[in-house]
Amino acid sequence: MATRFRDAIRQAAGRDEISCVASLAAEFHRIQGNPVATAILARSLVTAVRQQRHGTTGVDHLMHEFSLSTKEGVALMCLAEALLRIPDTATVNHLIREKIGHGDWHAHLGGPSLFVNAATWGLMLSGKLLSTQHHGMLASALSDALLKGGEPLIRKGIDLAMRLLGQQFVMGETIGAALTRSRDGEARGYRHSFDMLGEAALTATDCERYYHAYETAIHAIGQAAAGRGIKNGPGISLKLSALHPRYVRTQRMRVMAELGHRLKHLALLAKHYEIGLNIDAEEADRLELSLDLFSVLAADPQLAAWDGMGFVVQAYQKRAPLVVDLLVDLARRTQRRLMIRLVKGAYWDSEIKRAQVNGLGSYPVYTRKSHTDLSYLVCAGRLLGAPNEIYPQFATHNAQPLAAVFQMAGERGVTDYEFQCLHGMGETLYDQVIGPNRLDVPCRIYAPVGTHKTLLPYLVRRLLENGANTSFVSRLLDPAIAIDELIETPLRQVEREGGMAHPAIPLPCDLYRPGRINSAGIDLADESILATLNDELSALATRQWHARPLVA
Ligand code: FAD
Repeated sequence: MATRFRDAIRQAAGRDEISCVASLAAEFHRIQGNPVATAILARSLVTAVRQQRHGTTGVDHLMHEFSLSTKEGVALMCLAEALLRIPDTATVNHLIREKIGHGDWHAHLGGPSLFVNAATWGLMLSGKLLSTQHHGMLASALSDALLKGGEPLIRKGIDLAMRLLGQQFVMGETIGAALTRSRDGEARGYRHSFDMLGEAALTATDCERYYHAYETAIHAIGQAAAGRGIKNGPGISLKLSALHPRYVRTQRMRVMAELGHRLKHLALLAKHYEIGLNIDAEEADRLELSLDLFSVLAADPQLAAWDGMGFVVQAYQKRAPLVVDLLVDLARRTQRRLMIRLVKGAYWDSEIKRAQVNGLGSYPVYTRKSHTDLSYLVCAGRLLGAPNEIYPQFATHNAQPLAAVFQMAGERGVTDYEFQCLHGMGETLYDQVIGPNRLDVPCRIYAPVGTHKTLLPYLVRRLLENGANTSFVSRLLDPAIAIDELIETPLRQVEREGGMAHPAIPLPCDLYRPGRINSAGIDLADESILATLNDELSALATRQWHARPLVA
């Protein structure tokens, strides 16, 4: 039975986008709730959030102003990505000069946000000082002393700005500090899931450190939960790539034994405190491995009678609805209720790039945002259709899917579910949702914990997300975008666009056409490809090869 679901997941990975989207559209036609009621709710949420945000001075305004569609936004993104990990000041200076020196910062001045204006002035000044210094023209205007003092000052300033940005997205440097800070949100009705920053560990020492951080955090969260249980109390989110240095398909046996052992220990601890433990979703080529680990954990008799085990489904993956089916089946077979967080997926850019670099046959993810959005609603429908097996957790900052999920749940009489948002991103929206006088659906805040050294990969994902001009949070702040456009249903968009892959994103094999075909690679994380490879190698294993020189 379980293999049937796995086979379906494997086949779906290589499906073409048009047929996937056609199936999604057909399914959504059948399951969608009342579209008029959804639109009314989405509109009221967007209107309220826009009113609340008007005139505020937040980091989100900064992200919108310097979105990735501007040259300056891209420069800032590169800086943020690189700055915190460059060890020497000479390279930092070169980088700042290159990235800040050529931007048209002046064009970003004059908006209503104090934060944006202050940051822009800072960047303009940096740009002026550095570029003028670069061209040797400032010497007459400024003394050498200022120049000498200027560079470290700018370096420090930009470093500080990036760290401030980090603080916006990080709950605390230690779990103790984060738990203390979370009390404020708890008092307003929010729940929390803490994430110890750090991922993609490269050495056993890194893994040890992350493992102990998770262990310490579970003890602290468990004590703070004080028996409130998996839903009402706080929980923890784990990144498996932090717990094993070779968390890849080619090391499956080691991963299942070593990582499986660590994961079980952390799960037992979470069970002891009766808190939720969730496994975050990472890159698409780790999906099957994470499902293997999760299935073993779910079937473990020592972890029976605990419904706090959680898994994340990424709607941007073509396999997503089938992963939901597999999880529902897993819950039935192991007689437990699973906590399933539905997200759209945070690694879109790198998934596209990886498939191109590796010359894969297709992309594991959709190439249009509307396709991901539609997949999200179809997966939401399937999760809501299995209330005995699944406690659904809908993670989004977008008012449209939020309203659609609320509507679908209401029509099916499902009340036992929650929404989720990231710390520093969705609170203005969810202030309209939690509490008895609003929609009265609980919301859990995903709260990253860690020092600036461990922040970088997370910060980059948040900056990409906030800075992309298709992102809901960025569009919400743009007064030029009408509410009708913001709340348009994905089905409408798909029908308008035709349900085809994005024309600017050719298949990996067609990347260099018409010049040439891209060199084809082999996806060594794809089980069906591995099985074919294995058959071919086995067939050749008994064959005798005779080698001799061509020239006598
Ligand atoms: P929207 O602006 O509506 O959607 C943005 C998303 O659309 C992008 O993130 C991307 O997934 C998708 N998209 C954008 N452009 C395209 C395109 N051209 N083609 C196809 N799809 C596109 N992400 C993970 O990967 N793993 C996790 O474990 C995880 N945990 C999370 C936990 C919480 C509580 C939250 C709130 C988010 C989490 N995320 C995780 C991030 C999540 O995947 C999304 O990146 C984020 O929430 C943005 O989606 P949205 O609905 O809020 O915004």
